[in-house]
Amino acid sequence: MIMNLRGITKEYVDGLDDIFESKFTENLQNDSMMIENYETKETISYKTPPDFFTSVGEWPTVSDLHCSYCDLIIGGFPFPEIEKIVSIEPFKAQTMKRYFCDALCGRSFIDREYDGQKKNDKVKFLKIIYDKHLRYECASIINDEKNREKVRQALSISRVINIPNAPDKTQMKKFSGDMGITTEEYRELKEHVKKENKIGCYAFA
Ligand SMILES: [Zn+2]
Repeated sequence: MIMNLRGITKEYVDGLDDIFESKFTENLQNDSMMIENYETKETISYKTPPDFFTSVGEWPTVSDLHCSYCDLIIGGFPFPEIEKIVSIEPFKAQTMKRYFCDALCGRSFIDREYDGQKKNDKVKFLKIIYDKHLRYECASIINDEKNREKVRQALSISRVINIPNAPDKTQMKKFSGDMGITTEEYRELKEHVKKENKIGCYAFA
């Protein structure tokens, strides 16, 4: 439709694009404000762990973030994806703002996303975090006098242990529908894999 309006020249018409542009931006801002307001209604906090991992003792022991691989709420210790080790002594590692519910999910994510040297490094970093976490998680067993030798052996093995992949997450109902397994069954499946591969405190069983 062409409108001839007195006093309106082409310059004004060009200006309409700008008006549309600013209106559009304004709407986007309103939308994001609505989303923010919506989110504040939720009680979930989604606390982000620090940018650098230094020690298990200074790392969150619980997290309401979702696992970057299996999508379930992490619940316990959020295994971070490490980008690089910044220093060895004292230990400092830069995190990628991705967290996993366990080392298995970390392994599956890394295998899917990376290859070559990058993948090897990421797996190596995951093992370091796993090893540190293992010492902490199983501290009560380590302190048990009669288990000490067994634990010492298991920990020396844990340095070279191969972290297995998590079971395929898409077999869960939330991905594949009614025929799938429940999230609870998926967690049980993972426990089974950990036990089979002597991962975590199963290393001492
Ligand atoms: Zn997971």
